[in-house]
Amino acid sequence: MKTDKTETSPELRERTDESLKDERGKTDELIIRKSKEAEEEALDAIRENRVAADADRETFRAETATGEMEHRHADTTVQPSPMDDERLVQEREWSDKAQSAERETDDRARENERVQNRLDADAVLEREREETDRNLLEERGRLDAEAARKSALLAHEQVSHRRTKTALLTRDRYIGILSHDLQNPLASISIATRLMRKHLSKGVVDTVSLLGNLGIIEQGVVFMNRMISDLLDVERMTNDKLVVTPESVELSALLRECRDFFAPMVSSKSLSLTITCPEGMFVDVDHDRILQVLSNLIGNALKFSPRGTTIELSARKQATEAEISVRDNGPGIPKDKQQHIFKKFSQLTTNDRHGLGLGLFISRSIVEAHNGRISVTSDLGKGSTFCFTLPLTPSHAISPSPSGSS
Ligand code: ADP
Repeated sequence: MKTDKTETSPELRERTDESLKDERGKTDELIIRKSKEAEEEALDAIRENRVAADADRETFRAETATGEMEHRHADTTVQPSPMDDERLVQEREWSDKAQSAERETDDRARENERVQNRLDADAVLEREREETDRNLLEERGRLDAEAARKSALLAHEQVSHRRTKTALLTRDRYIGILSHDLQNPLASISIATRLMRKHLSKGVVDTVSLLGNLGIIEQGVVFMNRMISDLLDVERMTNDKLVVTPESVELSALLRECRDFFAPMVSSKSLSLTITCPEGMFVDVDHDRILQVLSNLIGNALKFSPRGTTIELSARKQATEAEISVRDNGPGIPKDKQQHIFKKFSQLTTNDRHGLGLGLFISRSIVEAHNGRISVTSDLGKGSTFCFTLPLTPSHAISPSPSGSS
């Protein structure tokens, strides 16, 4: 069957069904017409034979009657006897009866033959239908396979189109964000270096201002470095190239390392950072990557905590995992946004230019690369708690002491 390339699968199927229905109708009509014609032909022949036979019989009887009359007229001595007439009538009656019995037998045979013909025609019709149904099934199978092949191709094309589109959008977004967000630290670095040059060229060596400007430059470099690293990480994570190299790490030591790193920022905001973690709990993790996760979570907590509040860092043992949490007393995150913030480039407020909205996405990817899970619970106005799990080192996991805190 010829198919129009622009037709959809249901349309093609409908068209095939229609044409096969037509074919079936035509076959039925043809068979019924042919068998009727054959029956009518047979009936006509019988009718003709009977009319001829009746005519012959009547002619014969008329001739017999005429011959009898002539014979009587010629031989006046022979008088017709009433017995002879009766016998003649009787003979004709027998002959008529015999003929009608013969015709009844004929009719019955013909009726049987007709029934047999109808049965034969029905059998032929049934075979034709089975054949048509087989064709229909085969045609459908072929069309369905073709439609499935086409829709798989289409789906594949759509996916690669979406990927290309996303890649282009992401690239445009990267370029937009980079060019916009790198401007601020670059401007700060530029101003600080100009000031330093100006002072130094005048022979003025003001240590305080020099150190202040160096601090601004360092901050700018750290900020830009973080942005670029985040973007490179996202690129790796999007292309499944994030490699983690797990080793057995003592968790409380890792948390203390974080606390020490953030100490200057914590004190500059008059915050405090506490750790609650049993000693001797080992986890199988990529040290630097988990430090990165903790830095993201603590960095956010620092960003959103009001002055004078406490950030709580804690860890506890759960079956085969360690559960680590970072709790703050910040503004909280609305329920409907709590999943969204783990996606790429998601920020709750558009004026939040302290990051790219990638920290949590990166953290989730790193935690998942360790077969862990990350989640947030938060109450608006009360604060947020970010929790993630890490696998315990089986050979080093020892029963933790009740609770160590510092
Ligand atoms: P960024 O690098 O821009 O901070 P993140 O992925 O780390 O991006 O965070 C995404 C967004 O989630 C932030 O912009 C902020 O709106 C919200 N968020 C993250 N952590 C907290 C927190 N502790 N309290 C309130 N909001 C938070």
